[in-house]
Amino acid sequence: MKKRLGIIGGGQLGMMITEAAQDLSDEISKITVLDPTDNCPAAQAGAKQIVGDFKDKNAIVKLAEQSDIITYEIESGNTDVLNKLNTEIEPSPSTLSIIQDKLSQKKFLSENELPVSEFYEIISLDDLHEKIRELGLPVLLKVRHDAYDGRGNFKIVSETEIEKAYQYFDGKSLMVEKFVDFKMEVSVIAVRNTKGEIAAYPMVENIHENNILKMTIAPARVSDSVINDANEIAKKTMHVLKGAGVFGIEMFVDQNSKIIINEIAPRVHNSGHHTLQSCKTSQFEQHLRAILGLDLGSTDLVHKTVMYNILGPGGFEGKYKPVQLEKDGVYLKMYGKNVSKPQRKLGHFNVVDINDSKNTSELLGIADEIKNIVTIVSLD
Ligand code: AMP
Repeated sequence: MKKRLGIIGGGQLGMMITEAAQDLSDEISKITVLDPTDNCPAAQAGAKQIVGDFKDKNAIVKLAEQSDIITYEIESGNTDVLNKLNTEIEPSPSTLSIIQDKLSQKKFLSENELPVSEFYEIISLDDLHEKIRELGLPVLLKVRHDAYDGRGNFKIVSETEIEKAYQYFDGKSLMVEKFVDFKMEVSVIAVRNTKGEIAAYPMVENIHENNILKMTIAPARVSDSVINDANEIAKKTMHVLKGAGVFGIEMFVDQNSKIIINEIAPRVHNSGHHTLQSCKTSQFEQHLRAILGLDLGSTDLVHKTVMYNILGPGGFEGKYKPVQLEKDGVYLKMYGKNVSKPQRKLGHFNVVDINDSKNTSELLGIADEIKNIVTIVSLD
């Protein structure tokens, strides 16, 4: 029987889940999203929208009334409300509540003997001083809840910055973590369906700028032993976390080529956008197959790909000229956001080695040319 799908969050991830759901029309009869922004990207793609906050009890209950299965594109849903619903929710609210709090996530991973950077809860300024004496500098002071794209992180490099960092997050629950001197950031997009089958896409390399993902290179340029280690860790992570769906497992490769988990997203992930063209089954279709209990699709990487995020430029907020691009092997995806803001994710493009004739450096060269063509310019 066809199911009515509910999605908490209708940004670009909700939009691409909606598009994948429309292609699975034999399985899904209706798509409803909950998002606070009227005419959010997912609504523009054809989902019915309930306008409301992700934590709003009434709005979540309304979404549940219109859905047979609920999933989410963001971690900030209200787990107290989700736990009480009779509607199926994937991945499970218990997994969501572990992941929502960066401290409980790190505790969970370390209790399950998964590698994480040394960390502590922070309850006062004195406590922060004491924990820094144990860890040594540099450290990252992190906001535990509702922080994404590095917005809740403060890197403390010297003693003199400790108080400033603490005041910066005044009133928020905090944790501190040893700074990892990594040589590369990587991620594995893994998936489990409701039947318990697990699969993973090949590991990718992620390049961040100002804490925000700028580029993903698929596959990652690392040795087989690093790939094997990361895959083992991803597999173990999937075995300890409950729930069906796609999970983005972000990791560091340190200077000794050791893998350390940074964090886990219980949802489709920016570093999986390359799968739209590089793999037979995109992460968005895969997520839906997983939560609907269908057989998983292939996770093989068919074409090498470089994904580049189009971000709102600094110092500009407002409407921008339409971005267009036509070039063989380059796939532009804009998210339908009317207004640009500094660092806002407005779209991405994938440079795909469609004829299997280019190496990664050539794909990076093309990405570099294209990024100068798809710049965000004010409409005025
Ligand atoms: P987060 O939002 O916590 O995933 O952090 C965003 C970015 O901050 C990561 O992609 C890393 O570039 C950086 N970061 C986070 N935690 C650490 C750490 N312990 N050591 C070094 N860099 C980090």
